[in-house]
Amino acid sequence: MVQTVGVRAEEVNLESLAEIGPARAKALRALGVHGLGDLLEYFPRDYLYESEEKPIDQLRDGELGLARGEVTAVNYIAGHGKPRFEATLSDGPARLALVFFHGAYLRRQVHPGLLLRVRGKVQFFRGIPQMANPKWEVVDPNTQPVENAKLRAVYPASAKLSSETIERIIAANLETALSAIGEWHAPPLLARRKLMGRAQAYRAIHQPVDRTQALAARRRLVYDELILMQLALAMSHRLRTKKISAPVLRIDKTLDERIRARFPFQLTAGQQNAVWQIVSDLKCGRPMKRLLQGDVGSGKTVVALYAMLVAVANKMQAALLAPTEILAEQHYLTLRNMLKGSKVEIELLTARTRRQGKGMAESRLAEGEAHLAVGTQALLNEKIEFANLGVIVVDEQHRLGVRQRATLSDKGVSPHYLVMTATPIPRTLALSYFADFDVSAIDDLPPGRQPIRTRWLRPQNSGEAWQFVREQIRAGRQAYVVLPQVEDEGDDGKSVTKQLRVLSTGPLKDIRLAALHGQMPTEQKEETMSAFRAGKIDVLVATTVIEVGIDVPNATVMVIDGADRFGLSQLHQLRGRVGRGEWASDCILIADPKTPGGEARLTAMMTTTSGFEIAEMDLRLRGPGEFFGTRQHGLPEFKLADVTSELDLLQLAKEDAQELLAGDPDLSKSVHANLRATLFAQFAQTLGLAQVG
Ligand code: ADP
Ligand code: MG
Repeated sequence: MVQTVGVRAEEVNLESLAEIGPARAKALRALGVHGLGDLLEYFPRDYLYESEEKPIDQLRDGELGLARGEVTAVNYIAGHGKPRFEATLSDGPARLALVFFHGAYLRRQVHPGLLLRVRGKVQFFRGIPQMANPKWEVVDPNTQPVENAKLRAVYPASAKLSSETIERIIAANLETALSAIGEWHAPPLLARRKLMGRAQAYRAIHQPVDRTQALAARRRLVYDELILMQLALAMSHRLRTKKISAPVLRIDKTLDERIRARFPFQLTAGQQNAVWQIVSDLKCGRPMKRLLQGDVGSGKTVVALYAMLVAVANKMQAALLAPTEILAEQHYLTLRNMLKGSKVEIELLTARTRRQGKGMAESRLAEGEAHLAVGTQALLNEKIEFANLGVIVVDEQHRLGVRQRATLSDKGVSPHYLVMTATPIPRTLALSYFADFDVSAIDDLPPGRQPIRTRWLRPQNSGEAWQFVREQIRAGRQAYVVLPQVEDEGDDGKSVTKQLRVLSTGPLKDIRLAALHGQMPTEQKEETMSAFRAGKIDVLVATTVIEVGIDVPNATVMVIDGADRFGLSQLHQLRGRVGRGEWASDCILIADPKTPGGEARLTAMMTTTSGFEIAEMDLRLRGPGEFFGTRQHGLPEFKLADVTSELDLLQLAKEDAQELLAGDPDLSKSVHANLRATLFAQFAQTLGLAQVG
């Protein structure tokens, strides 16, 4: 959570606040409110007008009205269509018609002569005001009319604390809390962006006079959240690149041709474009920071290899980091294949090779005898020395937190940095989380790819899937069967162990099956994977260890059993394991989803194969925190801002952050004192801003 208030330091006990005793304090803590600052930032989720009570003849069409009158007639219509109970209220000459659909029970409660107060939306029908299904209560003639139309905040409530109680608690402590709120921005900026004052915004978001003011208050506070993040990213970026120069990596036509000759195919236009952008980064003398986005199978690996070989040709080293050991091994094999017969020395660094190699690879890298290193991201946490590291490539960045990024860049002197992601990061998020990156996108696929057919089978029809797998194996292809877990938990049967047994004795008898999952020893995993690659295994029964990166073009069927148990991006990644060669490929989802979310994910998979659309849908279904994994991205969540829809404000905040820093690089002007204090309290650790403070 972005703690934007800045009253943390002199934080007080909840129990010492007005209207809060031990029971309420406990209930508040359960809602995540631990102090005055939290209370102030316990924002309403909505607002409701409490309307003023009026005589019936002053009710206006379309408004939420509140009125009282005597019941002068009642009627019940049971007929076809909607059965309804009707009543007429009168206050003097004016009449108000009430309609209650399915109101049979009211026959016993509402009688002529009763005095009712009703609240509901007013609609005129043949000149007579009418309310459908109004809220109603019986009042006596002495009940005072409700006065002063008032907009009231509606808070996210719990069983223990109603919205009204929360409203009362906040109102009782609002003045105290506001006294700690200081302005962040200089008046000209506020005027230019039409933003209200910061303390005023906190007051108005809780106690707005009208909706317009409530929206303006929210806008101001969202803007603050966004600009705070943008400032933090920009400052930490500057810290990391300040006075840092990077090796100038030269490239000419001959080298370009030599590198291309290593690839068994022509680059696609998208790959070509990305290569150009990377080359221009590498020769400019400042460290490259580039995010390479491309859907699964778009061919990011060769683009990375290109960058790495430019480094080697310039007598520098390059490192490629993968999220899993299996993937590191695969990258290693790909690279070694393409570099066959060249003088480039390449080392694989996984838990296994490091155990077996007794530090040989490490010392060859430290001495500069090896040129390329391929390893898992675990390498980041260890002391691997490079003689002369020029380029770092990280595969699947969104699994890698901001904090880790900082560690990585410290390792080399000032290497160039390329990040690849196959889960496209929606542009909105790229803008907020990767603010300090340049982006290249590969938006085409290598030629000759056949679309992947996606089918969804209910479990009782899974026989069709196995039948199809048999046919494909007979035609010489291979298949994956993915399950949500290794062993059974309970008896729903969706596990690698159980399914392997079932398939090998039943529907896939006589077919070469093997299991692959994360709990297997590394050696065994690698053996299985290379046997599959060599075509000695027909079907891999696996967990999501094969989710990212695996590239076996001969595999054309992906069966995902228990598909509703996977996230949308995960499903898309898994599907991306097939359709990588010249053959038409199939993805078969087996599931009987029990939740609307599960249903929505499967439907999305049936609707589109575009990774970009999938990512946007996933983001919408899960929200950005889940999308990245909150802990992993290392950045706090926004309390108010919705980066998926508040793009325009994000853009403004980004521009303003840049301008602000241009005029006051360390935020040391006194007008920025409050902003600076919050920024450091918030981001010193995550982004290493402490060095400035
Ligand atoms: P991803 O972007 O998912 O990491 P890969 O780099 O693994 O994709 O490439 C997917 C497959 O496409 C690999 O088998 C690779 O050899 C092949 N490939 C990549 N680029 C091309 C190209 N320009 N023409 C033909 N095949 C290509
Ligand atoms: Mg890849």
